[in-house]
Amino acid sequence: MKFGGASIGKPRGISNATSIIRDSAKQDDQVLVVVSALPKVTDDLVHICEKATEGNLDSITDFMSRIREQHRQMIRDCIHNPKLLSETIAELDQTSGELEEILHSVAKLMELTPRSRDFILSFGEKLSAPLMCGAVKDSGLKSRWFTGGEAGITTDENFGEAKPLMDLTTRRVKEQLEPLLSAKTIPVVAGYSGCSPHGTITTLGRGGSDYTATLLGAALDAEEVVIWKEVDGLMTADPKIEKNARVLEKISYAEASEMAYFGAKAIHPKALEPVSVKQIRVRIRNSNDLAVKGTIIAGEGVVRSQGVVKAVTCIDKVGMISVAGAEISGLAGITARVFNVLSESGINVLMISQSSSETGISFVTPRDKLRQATNVLELTTLGAEYVKNVTAEDDVCVVAAVGAGMRGTPGVAARVFKAVAEKGVNVRMIAQGSSELNISFVVPEKDGSTAVRALHEEFELARFAQANKSEM
Ligand code: ASP
Ligand code: MG
Repeated sequence: MKFGGASIGKPRGISNATSIIRDSAKQDDQVLVVVSALPKVTDDLVHICEKATEGNLDSITDFMSRIREQHRQMIRDCIHNPKLLSETIAELDQTSGELEEILHSVAKLMELTPRSRDFILSFGEKLSAPLMCGAVKDSGLKSRWFTGGEAGITTDENFGEAKPLMDLTTRRVKEQLEPLLSAKTIPVVAGYSGCSPHGTITTLGRGGSDYTATLLGAALDAEEVVIWKEVDGLMTADPKIEKNARVLEKISYAEASEMAYFGAKAIHPKALEPVSVKQIRVRIRNSNDLAVKGTIIAGEGVVRSQGVVKAVTCIDKVGMISVAGAEISGLAGITARVFNVLSESGINVLMISQSSSETGISFVTPRDKLRQATNVLELTTLGAEYVKNVTAEDDVCVVAAVGAGMRGTPGVAARVFKAVAEKGVNVRMIAQGSSELNISFVVPEKDGSTAVRALHEEFELARFAQANKSEM
């Protein structure tokens, strides 16, 4: 079971979590718990890294007292046994002392390497895991907490986005955790971080606690992985955009990861890899409302396709770049050059399209990388006779229609673009993954919500999600 930051951000949330854990343990389940950092803590750590690099000692002092107080208060509210309480407070003091020391060293050196940044960012969960572990013990169960590395999660040293080394991880996780599980002791694992074979702390990418949970689930051949959140499940669209959005009852791994890549924030994009290999079921559930069944994510054998499109997502904070030339006859060469330059600069490309007349390539990058991308491209490609200009637009968004039912169904694209066109929305760029699980397109940012609603209506997503419901 993984509990997200929002689910454990208040004392009430922690007591919900411990009673969920207790109920499951009572039914003779072997339970393993993964936690995120308390709300906003990782964002604050990102921010304090910047301040520390500027040598700003005052902001470190402020930050540390805020973080200590936030955790201390939660510990006092959630742990009642005096001995457990003082042990947990002592642990907090020690861990926060260590964090403060590191921040001071960064401030002195005025330098932050990717490696030290990952180490600092891992502290959010290092502070929340002992709190959760103390609360679980306080509820009468046996528990012990681990960092991701201690639990056995082993990764490469690609800091900020480390890749798990699955064979090593599986072996170590089994070694570390199986004896505890059989002894009915509940391991509480700090999400988000791992450890390289050389013992260096790494992080799995923002939102990576989901990934921690599915990695551990796969390593231990779990029956299921439950991601407890503050929402009812994966939705047919963002309910802030579409008021008729519904919870999806069942969705396949492939569809859910497609949704995650295209902006549905309910689950980490890579989290479904390890569980889909082993066909381990994932459920997304609301820890505040146990009456809601949530969303089941499973293999396509289990999840029968209903309707062609299942969900519509929208990613904002992106920009579009077009590289144009009159006669890009050497297009293969220029394409290679463009994407080489971008990858060397560490710029992620979310979507690519090339017109068949070969006069240009367009692609989408995160908006905060747009200027850097344009600059490096201008420097390296302009002047080469085939590139005329590089243009960037920052007021766009990507809308994606996702669903396995689109595969091999003719006419889906026609319906997508007709629905959008009828609302007067201009489509700037189109791509369809060869998996045929999504059709994605770029529209002006101001029209993103209109496009999402148009597709939600066209494919009757509210109705299909409901039909799934009555079937359960
Ligand atoms: N605390 C990390 C983050 O905010 C990981 C997570 O919450 O899943 O990105
Ligand atoms: Mg989180």
